[in-house]
Amino acid sequence: MDLVKHEHDVLVVGAGGSGLRASMGLSQSDLSVACISKVFPTRSHTVAAQGGISGALGNMGEDDWRWHMYDTVKGSDWLGDQDSIEYMCKNAVESIIELEHYGVPFSRTEEGKIYQRPFGGMTTEYGKGIAQRTCAAADATGHAILHTLYNQSLKNDVDFFVEYFVIDLLFEEGKCVGVLAWCLEDGKIHLFQSHMVILATGGYGRAYLSSTSAHTCTGDGNGMVLRANLPLQDMEFIQFHPTGIYGAGCLITEGARGEGGYLTNSEGDRFMPKYAPNAKDLASRDVVSRAIQMEVNAGRGVGAEKDHAHLHLEHLDVDTINNKLPGIAETARIFAGVDVTKDPIPVIPTVHYNMGGTPTNINTEVLDANNNVVPGLMAIGEGACVSVHGANRLGSNSLLDLVVFGRSAANRTLEVLKDKPDSHIEVSESTIDKILSRFNSVRNASGDINPSEIRDSMQKTMQRYAPVYRDQATLDKGIEIMKNLFDDFSNIKLSDSSLIWNTDLAETLELNNLLYQSLATLYSASARTESRGSHARDDFPDRDDDKWLKHSLVSVSSEGNASYAYKDVQLETLTDEMETVALKARTY
Ligand SMILES: Cc1cc2nc3c(=O)[nH]c(=O)nc-3n(C[C@H](O)[C@H](O)[C@H](O)COP(=O)(O)OP(=O)(O)OC[C@H]3O[C@@H](n4cnc5c(N)ncnc54)[C@H](O)[C@@H]3O)c2cc1C
Repeated sequence: MDLVKHEHDVLVVGAGGSGLRASMGLSQSDLSVACISKVFPTRSHTVAAQGGISGALGNMGEDDWRWHMYDTVKGSDWLGDQDSIEYMCKNAVESIIELEHYGVPFSRTEEGKIYQRPFGGMTTEYGKGIAQRTCAAADATGHAILHTLYNQSLKNDVDFFVEYFVIDLLFEEGKCVGVLAWCLEDGKIHLFQSHMVILATGGYGRAYLSSTSAHTCTGDGNGMVLRANLPLQDMEFIQFHPTGIYGAGCLITEGARGEGGYLTNSEGDRFMPKYAPNAKDLASRDVVSRAIQMEVNAGRGVGAEKDHAHLHLEHLDVDTINNKLPGIAETARIFAGVDVTKDPIPVIPTVHYNMGGTPTNINTEVLDANNNVVPGLMAIGEGACVSVHGANRLGSNSLLDLVVFGRSAANRTLEVLKDKPDSHIEVSESTIDKILSRFNSVRNASGDINPSEIRDSMQKTMQRYAPVYRDQATLDKGIEIMKNLFDDFSNIKLSDSSLIWNTDLAETLELNNLLYQSLATLYSASARTESRGSHARDDFPDRDDDKWLKHSLVSVSSEGNASYAYKDVQLETLTDEMETVALKARTY
């Protein structure tokens, strides 16, 4: 195969919020930067983020980044790294003001300040009051941020390679030296060489059947990382959003409850005060998801199958709905046939976010199983695990993670490449051949199984065997089935081996990445014999800090076998500005 060759100082793979923020930051330097994306930048999943971005601006009442930090550490069920959390919460205000200056059209208060709404788990004075901390552009905050960052990237001449599918990372002597990508439009294979690769490829929600994520959320970067024999971190922690539309999976933002919405069961009872007397319907997502599941398990689910709950907005005034929640009114009408001013929306816990991913240090540099920096490779965004979310992410902390660490990746790259080498490390033929041989074996596969059958089984298996509530038998059965599906992948058949706009091939490569990550999730979940954050085990209902106050690292071999490592949670804060709020005592 003839390769089309490119040389850049830095490659950013992914054009979601994190990838664009990094690309934009780098484009303001002397470095040459390319941003590669399999979809048009503004179609990245960030565009779908509704509710908002958190930051202790204090526009709607007193606020403090330390309170934000406390909430985030608590929300993470003490698995978040406290140095990274401090860094994120402290840099939030500046990062959001920066977005405002770039042109993000935030909603406004009467006085013209950025509007901030309450969100689950966000409190004032270390848990005493409810904070209004989540900055919003109506209910389309991700849309506003992504379009603004894309405009800024164009203004700063980022070199975009749009609709290029990155197949794998290139390594020479342990250093990442670029990527191999397939251009969907011209069908050619492109060799991109660089001094630094920044992975910003997003989450892998599509491993599940019911997910709020876009179909393109297949965590390709994490698949590449596993194939490079590097581990993924904390993959057992998958957030279920309590309010996905029953049947369709589309998200109804937590902002809906922030504006006063509430949940009921089949008896018409508001059940959240029973599970979370203070925060009620605004308790953190794992708490609300589990509460819905408990109501369903107790036979109080709504609908013919008695398997979901109702979310009420009918009591809100029409102006609030039209001004603050117009998008969700439309989503409910299209996907549930509901007029939210008259009837409740049928909702069910739906996979929403991956806390786990490629392990990095606070500077976004990727780490191996021994905690050493992997030269030439960084990771940011939902696909990364800098571990600000630990065992459970608070709503509106992800958009913040994207911009804070997107910026930090750009700054760190500038430092690392201050004395950049004169030339690129040569990529050997054997490195390229190995990647192309996997690519071609998928493209020309002539076995017996249609990849769509494997995808369907994988999604159903994850839904059933790695659900909200888990136990040993279910998880181990899941591993057994998933391992067989992983093996079945070597016996697939593709009917189209062309290279131009071959969506079947692209989806099959994505499926391969999802299979790796599904196994990683099941392995890590089966090993962690405690309940923490989003990982709720029926057979081990309590958090076990003595044994499990540690991050899991799992690698998956090309045969689908696991190897495990663990590392300590960073309990030391960055500075001593955090007052004594019993963070380390882990009491709540
Ligand atoms: C419906 C919904 C609502 C949400 N609402 C909120 C919210 O209100 N507040 C909040 O904080 N968080 C929210 N989240 C979470 C948050 O939006 C995501 O975690 C975040 O946007 C992920 O951004 P990202 O930059 O990591 O990746 P994405 O935005 O997912 O982008 C991934 C990028 O990687 C590229 N890519 C992937 N694989 C390849 C490949 N093989 N080759 C080339 N390119 C590739 C894609 O083309 C894309 O550009 C929401 C999530 C969803 C699904």
